[in-house]
Amino acid sequence: MIPITKPVMGPEEAAAVNAVIASGWLTQGPRVAEFEKIVAAQSGAAHGVACSSCTTGLHLALIVLGVGPGDEVIVPSLSFIATANAVRYAGARPVFAEVDPRTFNLDPADTERRITSRTKAIMVVHQMGLPADIDAFLEIGRRRGVKIFEDAACALGSGYRGRPIGAHSELAVFSFHPRKVICTGDGGMVTTNNAAYADQMRLLRHHGMSISDAARHSAKTVLIEQYPVLGYNYRLTDLQAAVGIEQMKRLETLVKRRVELAARYDRLLSDSTLNSQLSTTLTPPHVPAYAQPNFQSYAVTLRDDCRVSRDAILQALLDAGIAAKRGVMTAHREPCYVDAYGAQSLPISEKASDRALLLPLYPTLTEAEQDQVVAALKKAVGG
Ligand SMILES: *Cc1c(COP(=O)(O)O)cnc(C)c1O
Repeated sequence: MIPITKPVMGPEEAAAVNAVIASGWLTQGPRVAEFEKIVAAQSGAAHGVACSSCTTGLHLALIVLGVGPGDEVIVPSLSFIATANAVRYAGARPVFAEVDPRTFNLDPADTERRITSRTKAIMVVHQMGLPADIDAFLEIGRRRGVKIFEDAACALGSGYRGRPIGAHSELAVFSFHPRKVICTGDGGMVTTNNAAYADQMRLLRHHGMSISDAARHSAKTVLIEQYPVLGYNYRLTDLQAAVGIEQMKRLETLVKRRVELAARYDRLLSDSTLNSQLSTTLTPPHVPAYAQPNFQSYAVTLRDDCRVSRDAILQALLDAGIAAKRGVMTAHREPCYVDAYGAQSLPISEKASDRALLLPLYPTLTEAEQDQVVAALKKAVGG
């Protein structure tokens, strides 16, 4: 079976976990602090705030941006559901904007049309690790008085105009779920240049406790903590951070291999002599000049004249032992959104979701396996 993804982990990660177990410090501690520094440095941001997932990081981000009941936050519906859910956790309303079907990222013009007097922020998603046109959103934000921040769940190691994702807007939030480029089991990180945001998020992720565990345990005098605000337990543990530190050493090589394999898929899929049928039924990913993607996923789009259904192609691939996946979901068509806000129509997002499929792509995918995927795909579309 060729899976859709496979995290790259080795004895280094296991040794790092064993060292944490031997140290006895199992929750948020020195490894978390070190992991934060490493991720912030890689992202070009002054601060990193680790948390239990990207989703909890997005919730913290919304709170420090001042988003609350009565506010609207513009998000793409074409995203993993956590993007919109986080806005609801903050008590605000997610307002869905359309995407550019070539990049699967928010369309700046449609986003601006959906700004109202209640709009507090725009959450720009770098879908599948392909950076959105962040400068266009920063310009809208300045002109319309709206805060811009990033759901960068998939985009660690990606670049926008030659600078890494992580320090372009108010905040960016990364995920370390196994489906992403590096993995800590579960985990997330907010990066920002704003020290006040970072301090507030550190307080909120740790029950709103005024004194950190580390400060309390190392104090020579008795310290009694206070709880000035309602906080959460959104901590990452040192067990996870130890894995993350080892994973960060691999980041550059992992991204490099993903990019090479994506370019190889591009060549195989568009080679009209090898695969004439494929090259006329599928569109490979589009990469705008401003974007340096990490290829967290490799999505192909079925052209309008492809007569085989997307799901029939997925089934044929599955029968051939290949775990391809549907494209990015839309939130607005899920019952938990229809029930809350009624039926909405976003035809571009719907089509972009329904006509895309993700092919297996991970650093240890062999070229022979990749050839197998392309051959099965060719057969599935009738080539
Ligand atoms: C994976 C993903 C998330 C959620 O990340 P978790 O770390 O699992 O909470 C949020 N947004 C997008 C765009 C994602 O791809």
